[in-house]
Amino acid sequence: MPQALDLHRRPLRNLRLSVTDRCNLRCGYCMPEERYTWLERSELLTFEESAALVSELVPHGVEKVRLTGGEPLLRRDIDQLVRSLRAQGGLRDLALTTNGLRLPDLAAALRDAGLDRLTVSLDTLRADRFLELTRRDELAGALRGLDAAAAAGFTGTKLNVVVMRGANDDELVDMLDFARERDLEVRFIEYMDVGGATRWDMSRVVPATEIIERVGAARGGVTPEDLKRTAAPADRYLTGDGQRFGVIASTTRPFCGSCDRARLTADGQFITCLYARSGTAIAPLLRARGAAAAAERIVDLWTGRTDRGAEERASLDSRAALAGPGELQREPHLEMHTRGG
Ligand code: SAM
Ligand code: SF4
Ligand code: SF4
Repeated sequence: MPQALDLHRRPLRNLRLSVTDRCNLRCGYCMPEERYTWLERSELLTFEESAALVSELVPHGVEKVRLTGGEPLLRRDIDQLVRSLRAQGGLRDLALTTNGLRLPDLAAALRDAGLDRLTVSLDTLRADRFLELTRRDELAGALRGLDAAAAAGFTGTKLNVVVMRGANDDELVDMLDFARERDLEVRFIEYMDVGGATRWDMSRVVPATEIIERVGAARGGVTPEDLKRTAAPADRYLTGDGQRFGVIASTTRPFCGSCDRARLTADGQFITCLYARSGTAIAPLLRARGAAAAAERIVDLWTGRTDRGAEERASLDSRAALAGPGELQREPHLEMHTRGG
């Protein structure tokens, strides 16, 4: 079967599977509101449905799956989904992004089920700040999660850090020191104006150039490692003292030209771009006609894809969050925590 290509000849290679829209944190850049419209639990794809669909997408070129959410470790028996995805054999990379809080209970089971890699999101090493940024007093839990990941045998764990001016941008070097001690690779992420980021403001974005400059000043310079603009979102750098780190410059220097990422929400909406205004409900077709028919539909949608969401946003004269709270309540599929980061 040929590799599915979109209209800019970008392959469908990478699928982000959101398994829940629920979360046990309330990060200010993702879930700042008091009230949310939640997906109906009864409408979520079962693990059997998700695994069958992935199996049908592999022959069309999907080779990487990342489980995400919301907080994917809140989905009961998530290790069983990992096991089923692994069992079907065709995936080169099976990863999961988490805030880490449930890793003490789940890291060993995830490893055992065949998960290759973890990305853990952590924006600060200060307990009072963690509470301020996430509205939960859970720094110690997140750190225990990182310990548990290492104890379970995960290596190459990435540490996602969303950098916000005046919130945590004085911790760049602390984060790097922390990561070096624990053999983690930091990826500094620019604050993005995605759905859900209703408090986003350009003045709070610390551009990649500034992040690199500041790290360089503290660490004997910074050399780009591979600015070849692969499909991977992060550009990687090496500090003067030999530490590798990544920067995801989605806001100021977007990378849509090589984007091979598709998203499937927990209730089965297929979304071709993080910034897309709408998705396509795949679940009804999956349930009525099976996984092969659903995969064909996804390939059709991909084949017609022209999205360059972040680049379009970067070209706007004035920028604000993708959607306001009212619109998000009416259409929760616009939320980053629904479509998966
Ligand atoms: N709950 C998990 C977590 O936090 O790792 C997985 C889902 S979360 C939506 C995935 C990633 O999106 C996290 O690394 C988070 O920091 C990032 N994210 C969420 N909102 C963002 C925003 N407005 N700008 C940049 N990154 C954001
Ligand atoms: Fe939850 Fe992750 Fe969003 Fe934070 S970034 S609120 S942990 S989904
Ligand atoms: Fe891909 Fe859309 Fe993100 Fe651009 S904005 S990199 S097209 S998901």
